[in-house]
Amino acid sequence: MCGIAGYFSRQGGNAAGQVMLALYAQQHRGQESCGIVSSNGKILNLHKSMGYVKEAFPNQLLEQMAGISAIGHVRYPTRGSAVLQNTQPYVIETLSGPIYAIASNGDVVNYDEVADDLRIKGVHFTSQNDGELLGRFIVYYHEREGMEVADAIKLLMKRVKGAYSAVFLTGDTLYAFRDVQGFRPMMIGYVNGDVAVASESCALDILRAGDLREVEPGEILVFTAHNEVSLKNYQRSLFPNGERKTFHCIFELIYFARPDSYQFDEYVYGVRRKIGAKLASYDDFKADAVVPVPDSANFIGMGYASAKGIPFEMGLIRNHYVGRTFIRPDQYTRDESVRQKFNPLKDFFTGKRVVLVDDSIVRGTTIRKLVRMVKGAGAAEVHLRIGSPPVRNSCYYGIDTPTRSELIANNMSEEEIRDYTGADSLKYLNIEDLRECVKAPGGFCYACFDGNYPVPKQT
Ligand code: SF4
Repeated sequence: MCGIAGYFSRQGGNAAGQVMLALYAQQHRGQESCGIVSSNGKILNLHKSMGYVKEAFPNQLLEQMAGISAIGHVRYPTRGSAVLQNTQPYVIETLSGPIYAIASNGDVVNYDEVADDLRIKGVHFTSQNDGELLGRFIVYYHEREGMEVADAIKLLMKRVKGAYSAVFLTGDTLYAFRDVQGFRPMMIGYVNGDVAVASESCALDILRAGDLREVEPGEILVFTAHNEVSLKNYQRSLFPNGERKTFHCIFELIYFARPDSYQFDEYVYGVRRKIGAKLASYDDFKADAVVPVPDSANFIGMGYASAKGIPFEMGLIRNHYVGRTFIRPDQYTRDESVRQKFNPLKDFFTGKRVVLVDDSIVRGTTIRKLVRMVKGAGAAEVHLRIGSPPVRNSCYYGIDTPTRSELIANNMSEEEIRDYTGADSLKYLNIEDLRECVKAPGGFCYACFDGNYPVPKQT
């Protein structure tokens, strides 16, 4: 998944400090590692670290990194192992002197084709990360073929397929761009004449940015000390019939994004409440309480409870210092995390008929443990309601979903999943109802549910 941020200060502020704050607000998008590159107008200064943003960037370090512009990244690994070498931003040094840096969010589906083509031209890679691929592509065409950086990015948009929202930094210029399908989110806002970009609007809120808007799919933004340019006239040329079509990731609205973010032209919490209300319309009984799996299902649970007129209760308490189980890198860590992460309120569940709401079921191991936990705490009945359709397909666009064979919906019927989890009943949101929960249903990718991949994976 990952989160990115970029900041260009025209007031002489500390861009690295602003980027740190924006990354801190997006820690939910990646907890494996993080990094910031700042520029004083000429020289780039990099710091990367495994772990959380706040620990990685103490004030003293941020003061040393003070500069007019900066980019940053929080990593959730999709391609490449969890080591510092695969952590972004990537810094690319050239023999002729200039240094460049890039941070990106997403997954390139024709990585091998693009990387092999660059290797033939003499480009050397130090990691398997998409960010490095994008950066080396731009630097190659700028430095070796003499293109303007913005023209190299236009070429990149034609050649590189898949999902990427990215920030690219030179000594004196910040670029921001987003793939033409707009898979991953990207927002821009202004802070007293400074400019900030980030994956999610919650990161711009923390900076008190105003005039927020989405960076358009296929748009390239160029920021310098005295100028700001938006390039989008060429966008139509990127589509075979000239007709623009977006494929925003629907899972961002269901699960990944923070509920206080504004994404794909709507508030995330609003979509989640609608999903909850849809789920409530499937049931003709009234439970004693609706309990969400915190935190991602909180607003889905609220939507359900308010539509039914029954109490919404935080019966499961989450330890916020464990992290999100879905984005932990391996099964052992995930299993341990679930046990350490949730604890039921004592005496709360005794004898109650509970609707337990979660956003999705991927492998099924987490929800199974939770149903057992709630039953073990004395619930008389547990009715499981899931705010998305069954997940049947892997994601190629920046989310590390397991292989198809690991997805429980491919191995068991709905009734078998109910039985496996130990729930008294199980209902998923159906895909037509999910479409009704967003303003522009035709502009989304639903491939992990329906298998219709908008950009085919190239092998
Ligand atoms: S396949 Fe699923 S997770 Fe991936 S972009 Fe599409 S909707 Fe999002």
